[in-house]
Amino acid sequence: MTTAKRALKKYFGYDHFRPLQEQVIQSVLQGEDALVIMPTGGGKSICYQIPALIMEGITVVVSPLIALMKDQVEGLHANGVDAAFLNSSQSSQQQASVMERITEGSVKLLYVSPEKLLSHDFYYLLLQLKVNLFAIDEAHCISVWGHDFRPEYAKMAYLKKQFPHVPVIALTATADNLTQKDIVNQLGLTNPKKFNSSFDRPNLSLNVAPGKDKFKTILAFLRQRPHQSGIIYCLSRKATEGLSEKLKNAGVNASYYHAGLSAEERARRQEDFINDEVPIICATIAFGMGIDKSNVRWVIHYNLPRNIESYYQEIGRAGRDGLKADTLLFYSFSDVIVHRKFIEESAQKEVSNAKLERIQQFCDAQICRRKILLNYFGEHLEEDCNNCDVCKNPPRVFDGTIIAQKAFSAIVRLKERVPAGILIDVIRGSSRQEILSKGYQKIKTYGAGKDIAHQDWQQYMLQLLNLGFISVAYDDGNALRLTPQGREVLFGERLVNLVHLASMKSVPEVKPIV
Ligand code: ADP
Ligand code: ZN
Repeated sequence: MTTAKRALKKYFGYDHFRPLQEQVIQSVLQGEDALVIMPTGGGKSICYQIPALIMEGITVVVSPLIALMKDQVEGLHANGVDAAFLNSSQSSQQQASVMERITEGSVKLLYVSPEKLLSHDFYYLLLQLKVNLFAIDEAHCISVWGHDFRPEYAKMAYLKKQFPHVPVIALTATADNLTQKDIVNQLGLTNPKKFNSSFDRPNLSLNVAPGKDKFKTILAFLRQRPHQSGIIYCLSRKATEGLSEKLKNAGVNASYYHAGLSAEERARRQEDFINDEVPIICATIAFGMGIDKSNVRWVIHYNLPRNIESYYQEIGRAGRDGLKADTLLFYSFSDVIVHRKFIEESAQKEVSNAKLERIQQFCDAQICRRKILLNYFGEHLEEDCNNCDVCKNPPRVFDGTIIAQKAFSAIVRLKERVPAGILIDVIRGSSRQEILSKGYQKIKTYGAGKDIAHQDWQQYMLQLLNLGFISVAYDDGNALRLTPQGREVLFGERLVNLVHLASMKSVPEVKPIV
């Protein structure tokens, strides 16, 4: 067992590292600078806490979240780690006593606010210590491109100047390419290792269009993007051939690709695409595996992909250079029927159908598409992305916090064990035999939502799912669970905007939350 793994077990009680944690730790132990992008909850802290415990000396953690420092330090104490914090919430006497403890040498992790880090007395303290690592948490705060710029962060380049041999690790949950570059520049890091475990690809615009007049729409789309390279994914081999023929007839330099072509022919077409000889290719999903072409500027889905994983993988072939790229998905119900037929003939019908339903919900939704996509992969995006068709053309919303709270309260009272259908029956006060026989009429929220029609509740539940407040346990009878964000709503710490339903009469109109 590695030293890192032993420390993980000893101090945190975990048996395995999460994706990338171990690689990050090794890189830090080798003295390299690193930029770490991991979604919230991904386990960033351990990336610097374990090196701090293994190495001689003290790790200085810079964090703007003063309110959380005390909790973090107490959590570490509970695990038997000697840690301390310094910030403006402490009296000067408290600060002096912390500094004394630190100079004695037993403290392994010191959390400081950026203001504190930049102060003179702290600089002199640093000179006396054997600092083994600087960890910059919430590193996006350093960038004016980020949404949370903090001026003090911009002065932190001095760390690398004054302490050139101490490795610096910058950590954040959100950083587009520009922000990443900015973080590296501002901190004066040379050649940092980059670790990214987030699913977010903010440079890709996400767009869904109705699956009608597709050819006309594509021609207009191409006219706005002359000379750009792109992929059009089709469901069938025949469609790739037909579409590329039509495009050629319209004067567009395109070819097609599918597994029915000879290996030679496929290799040739692939080469032509990579070299920009033929910039546009109509292809089945057989195309793209292992192709490393960084300047694909757009991906069109001529047909609905079979699930969100495929969709994400296929749009991911655009914009690998980090520059802006566009994606467009044509959504029509006839494709759903085709997929259902495929699924009927396959194994794992239930899971495949559930996944098909999820991508339909993604297409139908009036909620930031990136939020839905990231929620699907277990990440949470706080702000709307402003780079999808829904964000650019937002629907009418109202304050739906009370509606959400009714549903969430019932989910909790039903011990997160029931699927949406039963939940809705309970909040609507149904006297169905199944409800009564289980005694669900006794829970407090029984009937609390009877002013809203059943199908409207379904729509709201779907919105709450897409917003990441609830999740579905597919392996447990589709039981609804509350996510940490959902709990914040339930406890009144967070508001929820819901999209107006055309059919909605029962809910009074309230001003949207800004
Ligand atoms: P982040 O800072 O990335 O939002 P945290 O470092 O706070 O995430 O970690 C989120 C949660 O995951 C914490 O409860 C943490 O203890 C837990 N965690 C981190 N690494 C592991 C691991 N290797 N195995 C199990 N749980 C982990
Ligand atoms: Zn969006």
